[in-house]
Amino acid sequence: MSHKNFKSIEKTVFGRGSFNQLAEIIEPKRSLNNKYFVYIVDNYFKGKELEARLQQKPEDTIYFIDVDPHEPTTEQIDQLRDEILAQKGLPGGLIGIGGGSIMDIAKALALMLCNEGPSQQYQGLNLIKKPGVYHLGVPTISGTGAECSMTAVLTGPEKKLGLKCDWTIFDQVILDSELTKTVPVDKWFYTGMDTFIHCIESRDGILNNAYSMAYGEQSLKLCRDIYLSDNAGQSPENDDKLMVASLMGGLSLTYSEVGVCHALSYGLSKIFGEKHCYANCLAFQHLGDFYPEGVKEFNTMLAKHNITLPTGLSANWTDAEITDMAHVAYNLPHMWNHALGTDWKEKMTIERIEGLFRRL
Ligand code: NAD
Ligand code: ZN
Repeated sequence: MSHKNFKSIEKTVFGRGSFNQLAEIIEPKRSLNNKYFVYIVDNYFKGKELEARLQQKPEDTIYFIDVDPHEPTTEQIDQLRDEILAQKGLPGGLIGIGGGSIMDIAKALALMLCNEGPSQQYQGLNLIKKPGVYHLGVPTISGTGAECSMTAVLTGPEKKLGLKCDWTIFDQVILDSELTKTVPVDKWFYTGMDTFIHCIESRDGILNNAYSMAYGEQSLKLCRDIYLSDNAGQSPENDDKLMVASLMGGLSLTYSEVGVCHALSYGLSKIFGEKHCYANCLAFQHLGDFYPEGVKEFNTMLAKHNITLPTGLSANWTDAEITDMAHVAYNLPHMWNHALGTDWKEKMTIERIEGLFRRL
């Protein structure tokens, strides 16, 4: 058996206000390539206080991207790559400021600036041919772990799958939880629950191990402080904790794997365009037979924060849509293997997955 051998983020700064160190951090990289930086910023920040704090130089290019219409696509990355290269050539580096969507766009773009052809052809493990440009991530909403993962998840014409290789990992992240204070409560809940679900799925499967458990247990402890304790809710202290929980949850599953909920969530995102964290929540509430303790805690958290998730959705789905989602989910064998064991094909079939979707 060969064990996973992963690269980590090269440099990490953590602390409230650390975003102010951005200019100083990228200064040594400014002499690279065509000597300018590209900023990829969540459109939410356009016209907000953060826009005035970007500390960009006149030669830099800033793109504000609206992440709400859809999750990042291969087509979107290819268009941005072509535009950037046509305008000013290869930048010294690229900075992503936003949530999981922007983290993935920044990681994918950094790679695709140096790799020819459509990004669709690189969806998968170790398909990228050349290292990308220097890239730095600044998460502004906590939970996905995209700031530390080695994958840039993209939806392509055929599949939702990441560009996954050592070069995907950020060279630098700035973890400044002050930037998350404006996250509305519903998004705070759904994205934070991605961390919680990462930890439960990482733990409850055959690939769990001392290394993934250590990160996962600590992340779960932080999640309980943030969502279940007497001090639960959004606060500077809890925002700090959630940013660390997100990172540790991501590291936990890097050395283990996600499971049933993520497989279903990918189906919901691919066929109906549901956003990852919300799709996870839609599915997880119905998976008590796979994750009894986790779902019980999840339901307590929903009640504590007055979050109501819709049910009865499948009544409005066609059989064809349910079958399509089941195929997307079935084609994630690493997740089923982890969750159900190496004999998972005897336990899970397309028909059974359709049955799981019909619970929603
Ligand atoms: P997101 O990036 O789509 O952002 C969610 C919403 O929050 C958006 O409306 C955004 O504008 C808003 N927002 C972000 N920061 C804010 C702030 N500080 N104040 C107010 N609003 C703010 O959401 P997400 O849940 O962080 O990420 C989901 C994406 O992450 C999906 O595309 C999913 O595929 C991807 N993902 C990637 C990985 C990975 O390892 N690469 C893991 C999990 C999820
Ligand atoms: Zn996730």
